[in-house]
Amino acid sequence: MKKFDNFSEWFDDVLFDSGLMDNRYPIKGFSVYKPWGARVARKITEILEDQLEDSGHDPALFPVAISEDAFAKEAEHIEGFTAQVFWITHAGNRKLQKKMLLRPTSETAMYPMFAYWIRSHADLPVKLYQSGSVYRYETKATRPLLRMREFLWNEAHTAHGDWEAAEAQVKEAIRIYNTIFHRLGLSYYLLKRPDFDKFAGAVYSIAFDAWNPDGRVNQIGTVHNLGENFAEAFEITFEEVDGTHKNVAQTCYGFGISRTLAAVIAQHGDDHGLVLPPEIAPIQVVVVPIPYKGSESKVEAYAQEVYSKLKDAGFRVHLDEEEKTPGEKYYHWEMFGVPVRVEVGPKDLEERRVTISERVHRERSRVALGEAVPAISSLLEEVRENLEAGSRSTLESITADVDDIDSLRGAVADRKIARVCWCEEIGCAETIKDESGGEIRGHRIDVEEKPESPCIVCGAEAKRVVYVARAY
Ligand SMILES: [Zn+2]
Repeated sequence: MKKFDNFSEWFDDVLFDSGLMDNRYPIKGFSVYKPWGARVARKITEILEDQLEDSGHDPALFPVAISEDAFAKEAEHIEGFTAQVFWITHAGNRKLQKKMLLRPTSETAMYPMFAYWIRSHADLPVKLYQSGSVYRYETKATRPLLRMREFLWNEAHTAHGDWEAAEAQVKEAIRIYNTIFHRLGLSYYLLKRPDFDKFAGAVYSIAFDAWNPDGRVNQIGTVHNLGENFAEAFEITFEEVDGTHKNVAQTCYGFGISRTLAAVIAQHGDDHGLVLPPEIAPIQVVVVPIPYKGSESKVEAYAQEVYSKLKDAGFRVHLDEEEKTPGEKYYHWEMFGVPVRVEVGPKDLEERRVTISERVHRERSRVALGEAVPAISSLLEEVRENLEAGSRSTLESITADVDDIDSLRGAVADRKIARVCWCEEIGCAETIKDESGGEIRGHRIDVEEKPESPCIVCGAEAKRVVYVARAY
């Protein structure tokens, strides 16, 4: 399949041909979402925000500009992000007295306000989220959706009375992200990052690494327990029931909307283009009339009837009445990834039937019009299941167990995700990177994996089974 042979070219073609993005914007690392891409991104955002609301999160909108003073407050955080910051230094022709930065993430925008808002235990927990763009000056080669200097995400920030409550929040965040990714049929590894690769300022970080056809994993979400690190820096304290004052315990988590869209395209797409999970498809069902000479108006009327019936049933449905051949319409909607197509021809009209097909295996069947609604409902669920099954089996097939450096080098070169045993020494992690080009991404937290062989580098006793891959 072309997407595995030349991912980069395939991906660019799908983005453009399926009307998702136009990457010709004249600033490197910035791109344009066309209507189809903007609609899909909005759907992803909506289902995530619904889940956040259902679990007690509130929306907020913080400014894109952050003061240098606030940014500089948490030492590890500034060290981790400073090389990627876009600075605002001028207004008109005047140099600003105090420069500002475009948010690379919003801890340092939000937490000075948390310090005002949180006074007592009764103010806790705080659970806020916002969806928007963040800005990071990527120095590596930029790639549309996968590695951008401006990208869409949703970030949530929480504050709690103690470490245990923050730990419970980390679990809730993981559950929410797992639920969304499952609904989108995505496959990934849920990994605790090694200490040297945790979020700047966090106690620990957990990440969702989705597979990509070129072997570079795509981090689609992260969840961090911040402990009291930021509370200390921003003086976010509260009065306990007994009158003592304590730091809050915090978590934050980021859901990559652009990167989730990239994972949907990369994992589910095929040689015919995009394949959208029904839940985020702007159009779930397209009705294509197939008129024959003499029966045009009757077929059109029947197609309209089919369309109304499906619309009333609550599907996002479109009736394609353009002046094109049915073949051109099939090609177009397959490219755009619409999950289900309904064909309506003279024979269908005669028998009061419709011909339905799904996008993944492109198999057709005929059902009575009266049965169309339940048939399409189950077909949409079948699409999601087929996507998830296909994605999961690919993840398994591209994961390789290796126990020596030569095989590791071979596996990474072969675009695999390697599973290796590691002693947890930083020197061995560096050797792994230098020798193979892959990075240690972390160990699984959803499944316990005990190392059964020594460290792949030094031969000492291994402490962890870790996943090694190149990454975006
Ligand atoms: Zn070692």
